[in-house]
Amino acid sequence: MTSKSLQSFLDENIADLKERGLYNEIDPVQGPNGPIITINGKKLINLSSNNYLGLATDERLKKVAKEAVDSHGVGAGAVRTINGTLDLHLALEKKLAEFKGTEAVISFQSGFNCNMAAISAVMDKNDAILSDQLNHASIIDGCRLSKAKIIPFNHSDMDDLRKKAKEAVDSGDYNKIMVITDGVFSMDGDVAKLPEIVEIAEEFDLITYVDDAHGSGVLGKGAGTVKHFGLQDKIDFQMGTLSKAIGVVGGYVAGKGDLIDWLKVRSRPFLFSTAVTPADAAAATKAVELLMESTELNEKLWENADYLKEGLKNLGFDIGDSETPITPCVIGDEKDTQKFSKKLNEAGVYAKSIVFPTVPRGTGRVRNMPSAAHTKEMLDDAIAIYEKVGKEMGLI
Ligand SMILES: *Cc1c(COP(=O)(O)O)cnc(C)c1O
Repeated sequence: MTSKSLQSFLDENIADLKERGLYNEIDPVQGPNGPIITINGKKLINLSSNNYLGLATDERLKKVAKEAVDSHGVGAGAVRTINGTLDLHLALEKKLAEFKGTEAVISFQSGFNCNMAAISAVMDKNDAILSDQLNHASIIDGCRLSKAKIIPFNHSDMDDLRKKAKEAVDSGDYNKIMVITDGVFSMDGDVAKLPEIVEIAEEFDLITYVDDAHGSGVLGKGAGTVKHFGLQDKIDFQMGTLSKAIGVVGGYVAGKGDLIDWLKVRSRPFLFSTAVTPADAAAATKAVELLMESTELNEKLWENADYLKEGLKNLGFDIGDSETPITPCVIGDEKDTQKFSKKLNEAGVYAKSIVFPTVPRGTGRVRNMPSAAHTKEMLDDAIAIYEKVGKEMGLI
């Protein structure tokens, strides 16, 4: 029997979301999440997944994943600190450390989990965290869990960061102070000003933490935002995910050996949640190997991104100031944005609308995620559909 208070909570809140058009209906994908997806039996050009390099369906990854099931089974069997650390997890961490150019790496079950784990393993109620206002939800939750004082700074505003860092230091209230930022911001595709952040961090002795979920596999010829700026020795925590460009699932922190040693004894999801499966670990390791061997997929990603951006811009769409393959198409009004996305879908393009509260009011956009797996024909078709729907709605 459901409690009356729970039932009335659910009834009221679900009705409220539906009324405000904020209740997200999930569209299940039938089959693989590749450049073309099937939803409700209909084939659509997929411009919504984070599978930047097309590795989620790569034959080489599928092969090693199947082999890992045969050699190691389907589950890790325990948390990492009991006996769930398999040789496959260590191989993944070794490969990631080479990839990132750091002394060591610890891997987790997801990128979200990583931020829940790593921030609170180091920061506590006597500390402060300077956090970019547009940081990802998992950073915000990770910071909250640590109980440190959270001091937001205006998005990528280095004067504001310097001012708040100085105030925090001068107050004498905190033992440690961290600055934390996304490497690439997922809604606009802009890149964090890491060289200036590092300069400010050095001036005020801040701990530096970069969440590179959207940068790894994309920037720095695939090695990420930190490598893009040549700052491997200057960032304490390089956090990344194995679920976006890497195409599998999992997360990691790369850094100095003693930091990683500490995370292995103090980060709670590592101690209390079972490790990723053998197939996940093997497939992710293979993906990293492929990225280290060749920049072909990375180059293809950028080529496709430039092509799509150029096409949409030439049609007269506002594609914002993205510096990465993330290609927003800014419509503005929330209702128009949702309608546009729905019409694109009906015409054969799957591109999600993103509106307030995920982005500021009046900046609703349809976000496009081109990948290395798209062909030029697919992108041409997508651009033609954008033109047709854009003209129908009087947007261009
Ligand atoms: C997607 C994302 C995450 C979460 O990564 P998962 O591996 O999907 O849990 C964390 N941080 C940022 C910035 C992200 O974009």
